[in-house]
Amino acid sequence: MDLQKKIESYLKFQFHDESFIYLEKNCNTEFFDNVKKKEAIIDNKTTKQSIISQINQSRDFPENDLFAEEPQWSKSDNLEDLYSQIKDCQKCPLGLTRKNFVFGSGNPKADIMFIGEAPGADEDEQGLPFVGRAGQLLTKIIESIALKRSDVYICNILKCRPPKNRKPLISETDECEPYLFKQIEIIKPKFIIALGLTSAETLLKKKVKMSEIEGKIIDYKSTKMLVTYHPAALLRNPEWKRNVWEDMKLLRKLYDEYLQNITNS
Ligand code: SF4
Repeated sequence: MDLQKKIESYLKFQFHDESFIYLEKNCNTEFFDNVKKKEAIIDNKTTKQSIISQINQSRDFPENDLFAEEPQWSKSDNLEDLYSQIKDCQKCPLGLTRKNFVFGSGNPKADIMFIGEAPGADEDEQGLPFVGRAGQLLTKIIESIALKRSDVYICNILKCRPPKNRKPLISETDECEPYLFKQIEIIKPKFIIALGLTSAETLLKKKVKMSEIEGKIIDYKSTKMLVTYHPAALLRNPEWKRNVWEDMKLLRKLYDEYLQNITNS
């Protein structure tokens, strides 16, 4: 097993190559030399804490720490506070390449939350989710069921743009998804719309096929979840628009039922 694999298995954390290079660059040389010289001690449990603490000291992240058990942001109880605590995040290498951190936008008390994959070029430029061509299509999709963007909340799993819009790496998703889970916890939506498979798989924590889940009502921690195609995929495959329209009609029906129940109770 090489050094990277040993450290990964020991810290229970998967580095992508870029991340490991980043870690090497950002940790002081003495620390990394020590780790390399003493590869064998990585198997000794007593060294885990010292590796973590040396990484922490080297990286100079007093609060939003990569390995901290309970980071300060996890105690946030509103979106403004959460945003201010994580907006400078550098937990993965995307923090170095982003132009803007893309937190999310919309109604902080929304009943419906749309969750995509990651910001693209336009989103990175403006610091807002879904503002490019795919975003304009998402706006139309939302308006097609008589809602406005400002009625719902829109965000992504990753808050920073992956270079050349590549798919998020597992290590990046692992680092960033706790922020999304915290957003969901704060907003407490009644319905979640996962836009695309990456979003669905991150939330469901398992591999799924679109044909198996699209158009179905899924229970996500007592919230009703629907999975539909990502608007960017729709731009490439307009024949899927019919499926999305059916999914949105189902969402509108469920939402109307929910509103009716509130009125009656
Ligand atoms: S993608 Fe997420 S984890 Fe990575 S730097 Fe950005 S906010 Fe932090």
